[in-house]
Amino acid sequence: NDILDFSKIEAGRFDIEPDTIKLREFAENLVELMASRAFAKGIGIALLVSPSVPEKIMSDPLRLRQALLNLLGNAVKFTEKGGVVLEIAVAQQGWVDFQVRDTGPGIPLREQERIFGEFEQADAGSTRRHGGAGLGLAITRRIATAMGGTIAVTSRKGNGAAFTLRL
Ligand code: ADP
Repeated sequence: NDILDFSKIEAGRFDIEPDTIKLREFAENLVELMASRAFAKGIGIALLVSPSVPEKIMSDPLRLRQALLNLLGNAVKFTEKGGVVLEIAVAQQGWVDFQVRDTGPGIPLREQERIFGEFEQADAGSTRRHGGAGLGLAITRRIATAMGGTIAVTSRKGNGAAFTLRL
């Protein structure tokens, strides 16, 4: 599915269709969707929405959902102990930050830019162990850019990762 979707994005068949999103309900649904996978692994999953976050935003619900599910899916996939949090907060100048944090293995500094590239994984054995095509983050970055936003990661090896989608 990632490969097909990526091909479509590359071919320019990629429209952003903004609609009203009830943010809390929307985010609760995503976290609930991931909860069974987290539960099966014995790790926690939580949603934090800061009080200053608007009740509704205009964005493309399908693409925002796809981006956040990519981030949440990775966070759950790579975390064996502890848990995953989706935190939504308002940053300066009207940006809304969607941060997905985990207590997984983290990503070494030298890999942090590369993993947003196509077919890139932080370590070569990853596909064998965790599956994936190395396209999720490339797609997520294209979605962020198409929406006029950004995506960035902070992490230290062994200390979890935090991906922030800023829209
Ligand atoms: P994949 O389908 O392989 O997960 P992604 O583009 O989503 O592809 O991720 C690329 C690589 O980035 C992953 O294979 C993994 O090495 C690394 N990565 C992504 N998210 C995390 C995370 N939360 N913790 C540790 N490593 C991660």
